[in-house]
Amino acid sequence: MSSFDPVAIRREFPTLDQQVNGKPLVYLDNAATSQKPRSVLDALNGYYLHDNANVHRGIHELSRRATEAYEEARAKVARWINAADPHELVWTRGTTDAINLVAGSWGMDNIKAGDEILLTVLEHHSNLVPWQLLARRVGAKLRYVEIDDQGRLELGDLPSLLTERTKLVAFNHVSNALGTINPVKDIVAAAKKVGAVVLVDGAQGAVHMPVDVQDLGADFYAFSGHKMCGPTGIGALWGRRELLESMEPYQGGGEMIEFVERDMSTWAEVPHKFEAGTPNIAGAIGFGAAVDFLATLPAEEVAAHERALMSYAMERLAEVPGMRIYGPESVEDRSAVVSFTMGDAHPHDISTILDSEGIAVRAGHHCAQLVMKRFGVSATARASFYIYNTRDEIDRLADALEVVRGIFG
Ligand code: PLP
Repeated sequence: MSSFDPVAIRREFPTLDQQVNGKPLVYLDNAATSQKPRSVLDALNGYYLHDNANVHRGIHELSRRATEAYEEARAKVARWINAADPHELVWTRGTTDAINLVAGSWGMDNIKAGDEILLTVLEHHSNLVPWQLLARRVGAKLRYVEIDDQGRLELGDLPSLLTERTKLVAFNHVSNALGTINPVKDIVAAAKKVGAVVLVDGAQGAVHMPVDVQDLGADFYAFSGHKMCGPTGIGALWGRRELLESMEPYQGGGEMIEFVERDMSTWAEVPHKFEAGTPNIAGAIGFGAAVDFLATLPAEEVAAHERALMSYAMERLAEVPGMRIYGPESVEDRSAVVSFTMGDAHPHDISTILDSEGIAVRAGHHCAQLVMKRFGVSATARASFYIYNTRDEIDRLADALEVVRGIFG
């Protein structure tokens, strides 16, 4: 184990300090949303207590302060992914909203009848349905990279799937359903050979590893604040500046214009062109505080801690009779997610029994029905780990799974 101390980190997260069904809470549903450290809660509260005002509008002190904090947060989050310029970072409601923005703006103008969009079977519905909607509207075709028995992309098929008709390649950095870490740079390199634009769904990527969008080489990177210690309802779309500048606004309204005439308007500079209406100001400030918090942690030790948790969880779970674990066998290829089923026990029943032991896991299709279909199941149970989880909690999970086995045999 690394010298990183998750027990000390836990103290920063008030939600973790509670009993559920008479037992200390073990929160293993981090891929759905993470808990929030005190500093993020203080930032949200601080904004509402002292600086609450609309941004970019008022010429008064509170508006000035709110605007400064809001734009500072943009710069912090942009730095977290090593964007070349904070103007390349558009605030959105989350990953879903960011992907819909690209589909509704760039997609509507650049994807035509007969064009192809290359997706993967590993995607969250957020990175499938917006492209299905677009494809149906414009008459484009969707194609898919399949996955192997370990939930890894069949990248050997890329040369035949990528053609001059491929206008967009969209895939996740890390799978929420299986934890598979995808080789973003390799896929980007292949996509660029046919001139396709590349969108990476980073909802589970920016969370667990330092992301360098300049190094990855994609055109868009979408992610959510709430999965990385930030508030819900705030996320970001990073896009190459020249692409963002070439795109039409996604929504119309206040703040996204330069001038408005009776029959036409001109647009504000990026990123404001894409931020119509009063934004989630507190959320953005909270997201900035989350990134400040994460930046104080030693990235390599955090990664080693999460890998160690994953290894230990795989080892402990594999000891449970009837256990089937999905996703890559090698911990090097997977992020901190273990998806599993146990004999005939329905994942919802597993989750209910675990809940009675104070353990929160997710059960269901994880918004990844294509993944479930690939493995012939309708649902799995999923334990997902984060900075504040401990080995003891994995022992609690393994012990509770023995209770499940006792009930289901
Ligand atoms: N993509 C992946 C891989 C996810 O895990 C999630 C959320 O679980 C999303 C997209 C959607 O994120 P949000 O609900 O924050 O928009």
